[in-house]
Amino acid sequence: MTHRNPEDNALRAADAARPEPRTLAEATDLVHTPDLTAGADGMFGTYGGAVLPPELAGPMAEVAEAYEEARHDPEFYAEYRRLLRDVVGRPSPLTPLRRLSDELGGARIVLKREDLNHTGAHKINHTIGEALLAKRMGKRSLIAETGAGQHGVALATAAAMVGLDCEIHMGSIDVAKQHPNVVRMRLLGATVVSVDREGRSLKEAVDSAFDVYASDPAHYLFAIGSVVGPHPFPTIVRDFQAVVGCEARAQFLERYGALPSAVVAAVGGGSNAMGAFTAFLDDADVRLIGVEPGGRSATKGEHAMSMAQGVDGVLHGMATKVLQDEQGVPDPVHSIASGLDYPGVGPQHARLAQLGRVEYVAEDDAAVLEAFQRLTTLEGIIPALESAHAVARAIRMAPGLGTDQRILVNLSGRGDKDVDYVAETLGLTGEADEVVR
Ligand SMILES: *Cc1c(COP(=O)(O)O)cnc(C)c1O
Repeated sequence: MTHRNPEDNALRAADAARPEPRTLAEATDLVHTPDLTAGADGMFGTYGGAVLPPELAGPMAEVAEAYEEARHDPEFYAEYRRLLRDVVGRPSPLTPLRRLSDELGGARIVLKREDLNHTGAHKINHTIGEALLAKRMGKRSLIAETGAGQHGVALATAAAMVGLDCEIHMGSIDVAKQHPNVVRMRLLGATVVSVDREGRSLKEAVDSAFDVYASDPAHYLFAIGSVVGPHPFPTIVRDFQAVVGCEARAQFLERYGALPSAVVAAVGGGSNAMGAFTAFLDDADVRLIGVEPGGRSATKGEHAMSMAQGVDGVLHGMATKVLQDEQGVPDPVHSIASGLDYPGVGPQHARLAQLGRVEYVAEDDAAVLEAFQRLTTLEGIIPALESAHAVARAIRMAPGLGTDQRILVNLSGRGDKDVDYVAETLGLTGEADEVVR
């Protein structure tokens, strides 16, 4: 990996002089360093690839070819940028956390506000890209699975925006648990398929959606919800999310004339983290830190720390770090944040750990709840529990760093979906704090 010399003024000048990209390829060229460019085999070193049943090898190669064309098409990029600006509300702002940083001492914490996006999280950045790609390929429908429903809602929104059908498969237990998201998807015009097979959860939903896709790949684009799955999806989703770090890097140079000392992001499948890290990969002085869900404890089944405790394996069509037993059966996982309880991780993260470019750490449920409360009461920002993992790590780091340093935290989503759960956990169940008669 090449490294830029972090001379602040030179950096700022170089940034200002950089021409506006005209294509997605130009916009993400900086990330197409050899280490993170998948070849035709889809490998990032020893990770990634496309481990697929034979009947899906052709359709997946077709997606890769169409994406390669789209990446170089200025019209495709213009439409993606237009939707991000007019509908998502990009660029999202930076928010320096004044009260929290004063209380902690040390480095200042600055948020990148993906929670302010339309639909409340970063996922809309890549679902819009996937919807545009599907449309370009002449597909009629998007298809995907969803667990907590976040990916399903973001995908149904993008489908409505560009005029495609959308079919979302969901385990029947999740359908019952995530009623508000099911209603949202159906209002947005998506068909929600409740999967009532043994298990009735995310894994069965993946299998069911995959079966339907395999039966008619000309009709559907299988729209994966993170930087996971077979090639080319880790690359596609990373490229559509890279806007987060590209914006944040330029915003930092403009506002502070310097880069952050560290960029911190929560890692489930890894899409918001890849989005935040990508633009900074060549900035050798910027620490990149991925935060995994430490859960209730480090005991198997009580967390989802795929990077820390996973072994090399194959999951959902990719070679990566997987929490699994000797037979290759994925372990049960837990996190306080449903968007992070996944027994694998995107192959680019496995590769970045191998290269030593990104540090992977964990924060447990208790630290996450505390970070959620501190951000809420001190700054008036209610974070998603997923994003609160990154906030918790920044809170841990800041006091040990100099006051001239800044930590950039990717606030991947807002916490509206989590408030009932947190209130219950904190015992905030009465109707009011006081009653007046
Ligand atoms: C889905 C989700 C995540 C986890 O997914 P990644 O692919 O790891 O980013 C994190 N934060 C929020 C708000 C989410 O909705």
